[in-house]
Amino acid sequence: MQKILLVEDDPALLAGLQYSVEKDGYQVYTAGTVRDGWACFLREPPDLAVLDVGLPDGTGFDLCRRIREQSQIPILFLTARDEETQVVMGLDMGGDDYITKPFRLRELLSRIKALLRRSADKPVQTLVSDPFTLKADESRLFRNNQEIALTPAEYRLLHMLMRHEGQTLTRDQLLTALWDSSGDFVDENTLSVYIRRLRAKVEDTPSHPAYIQTVRGVGYRWKSAEGCRTCH
Ligand code: CA
Repeated sequence: MQKILLVEDDPALLAGLQYSVEKDGYQVYTAGTVRDGWACFLREPPDLAVLDVGLPDGTGFDLCRRIREQSQIPILFLTARDEETQVVMGLDMGGDDYITKPFRLRELLSRIKALLRRSADKPVQTLVSDPFTLKADESRLFRNNQEIALTPAEYRLLHMLMRHEGQTLTRDQLLTALWDSSGDFVDENTLSVYIRRLRAKVEDTPSHPAYIQTVRGVGYRWKSAEGCRTCH
């Protein structure tokens, strides 16, 4: 049975979440503070963590940062505010997804399922698109042998773009890569946030992107001078 860590300081919400997630067939561990959440993580290493952002002794981001030092499990944030700055910070700490309160339990459960499924079937190939090498088995990106640190979600988005070098991918296709869903309940703005962050990491001049090109009204495409090769 897969284990899920729930950290939320609102006891009523936590009880409701625990009930629903257990009913969906997961083993659930709960905590109401950063400290207890961390202790719980160490005691029962989970397959996925759901972290409330505002906690009495810190934030879900603090806890995410600590978890990321040890683990690449999917992390989903519960945020009370949908400000972009909050979301960006969460994704920067290595979070995979977020959901803004109030939310429907069904939506949370489908996100959990999608994140777990995706972490189970990671692609195993290396993509080379000079000067970049994307090592799928290690989820790492290199530029001329220099590693560029990516969050798991940034990695998935880049993998999707590079795998379809030269092809235009629609926003829906890219959102599917990110969330493994139709993207119906995903904030349209979030993809733009990810693209901007990726460009800041891979482009020489992010304001005039050479690799991640915008196809107006449709989506994005990966472009490289040499073409993209797939190695195993
Ligand atoms: Ca809270």
